[in-house]
Parts: sequence; structure tokens; C-alpha cells
Amino acid sequence: MLETGVLPVVDLDGSAQHVLALDIGGTKLAAGVVDTSGRVHSFEIASTFADEGPGSGLERLFALGRKVVEDSGVAWAEIAAVGIGAGGPLDAARGVLIAPPHLPGWLDVPLTERAEEAFGLPAALENDATAAAAGEHRYGAGAGTRHMVYLTISTGVGGGIVIDGRLYRGAGGNGGELGHVTVDCDGRPCRGCGRRGCLEAYVSGTSIAERAREAGMDGATAADVAAAAMAGDAVATAVWIETTDALACGLTSIVNLFEPELVVLGGGVVSGTGEQLLGPVRTRVLAEAMPPAAAEVRIVAAALGERVGVVGAAAIAVERFASGELHTHG
Ligand SMILES: [Zn+2]
Repeated sequence: MLETGVLPVVDLDGSAQHVLALDIGGTKLAAGVVDTSGRVHSFEIASTFADEGPGSGLERLFALGRKVVEDSGVAWAEIAAVGIGAGGPLDAARGVLIAPPHLPGWLDVPLTERAEEAFGLPAALENDATAAAAGEHRYGAGAGTRHMVYLTISTGVGGGIVIDGRLYRGAGGNGGELGHVTVDCDGRPCRGCGRRGCLEAYVSGTSIAERAREAGMDGATAADVAAAAMAGDAVATAVWIETTDALACGLTSIVNLFEPELVVLGGGVVSGTGEQLLGPVRTRVLAEAMPPAAAEVRIVAAALGERVGVVGAAAIAVERFASGELHTHG
């Protein structure tokens, strides 16, 4: 197993120092060839067409994988493993997608087995938010930290936790669901888990748009709300303040719980609004988190952008190799 070093020495397999990284989202598939220093040699995005089911979805994912290997100029012999990120719930140890809500019909899909058959390489599967946390920790905004929390805010809200230099996964690999920290017991219904008052029910892009619609901003997206609030619109400003208050509230509990040295915020809502979101959240968390944790934590934007999915999936494969869980075939 890995010791507590933040960046373990990685020796994949001689010259095979690259990972074919695949990311399965509800709307987009992504693939890339990433080396063990986190450099992306090729990158492609395609539509998931999730409702067509896993058969054709996986066919297109694997075709995209073969294309990025070709594009990268990296020989197949230099690729040690396949890393895959996907939305949960999933069984990371067995490499099986269980029933991801954003991939209807993708029930009990043995993903790593299918990838190993398709590419003849060992494959590793991880929850996409956990993988993104691993990517930011190993190669992005969190490089060099030992205690880090990652939150991705886009259609939904996901999270990942690094404790003492290692990813925390929970008993079955589905821990770190930071989007379902409660910020109001009797609050808004949460689409992600069916409870009420989750962080996700206030700060996801979907929830921001939904609250804006209820406030009379018909058809406004999260980006529209942010722009209108920036321009001084009173309704949008109220929706935006409710958003940053909910995020600060949830994040303060998370900071109190883990005492991280760094919180990394990623996802479309964060990349689209930057300091308009981060500024008020940082101020309130630092003011309200219990000292001394409050004095230690930094809250920053993610560094890997739209490639976080593939860099994260690669980081997972690298980590599993380093820990001896993955072995070259044959
Ligand atoms: Zn929830």
C-alpha cells in the first residue's frame, strides 16, 4: 500500500508511463492520453447519448479512446493502463457501474472488464468527483497538500476528500458525497438523493436556475443569474446571495469536519463565475469556521479546467498502479 507521501514515486511499467483516460458524463464522453507527470498528450470530447444505453455508449467511448491514442503519437506499448471516471453509485473495487442517475439504463455495467477486453490493458474505475479530486491533488491546484477537500459544482454537486495525502473513499467507495451535506433540514427537495435541504439543492447549476425561475427570471441559467447579479439586478442578486450563503454554510461544516489546508472548488458554475462566487464564500467561511481550522484553510478555484475528468481518471490509474492494485497483463 501507499505510504503517507503526498506524491508517491510512480513506476508504472518500464517505458509505459502513459494512461489512456476515459470520462463518462451524463451528456459528454471525454478521452485523453495522459502521462505520469499529468501532461495531456491528446484530448477529445463526444456526446454520450446516455438514453441509447451502455452498448452503443461504450462502443463510442472505446472508439474515442482508440482515436486519442492515435492522435497522441504515443505507442500502445507505452500505455500502461486505462483509467475511467464515471458518476456513481459504482463499485470501484469490482469496476462496476451500479445505477448512475445521469445514465438511465446503465445498470450493473462491468466497465473495467469491458475496457480490459477492448484494450488489453488493466483498467481502473472511480467515481468521477473522487477522480477529479485525485487529479487536482496530484497535478492541479492541490499539488503538494496533505489535507484537501474538493467540491465540483455543475449540474449536480460532487466531492472528494484527501486525508494525509490519500484519497478517502469510504467503506464501499462511495463516500465523500459533499453535495449532500444538509444546509437546511426542511429545505428544498434534492434531486440527487431525495432528501431535503442538501447543498446540491441550492448551489448546483440546475438549482440556481430553478430558484431563479421561481423568483420570476424565466429561462435564466446559472450563468445568466450571475451576470444579472453582477449588473445590479435585484432579483438576481437575491438568488445569488442565497447561493453563496448556502455554499458558505455547507463548506463551513465541511471545513470544521476535516480541517483541510486547502479547499478546491471546480465545475462549470465555479469556472463560469470565479471570484463572484469564491469571494463571498471565502469571506464567510473564514469568519464562521471554528478556529484554528478557519485560520488554516485556503479556498481556491480548480486548476485543470475541462480536462479534469481525464487527468483525474489518469491519476486514479497511476495511484492504483503505485499501490500494487493494478498489474500489467501477461
Ligand atoms: Zn441530496
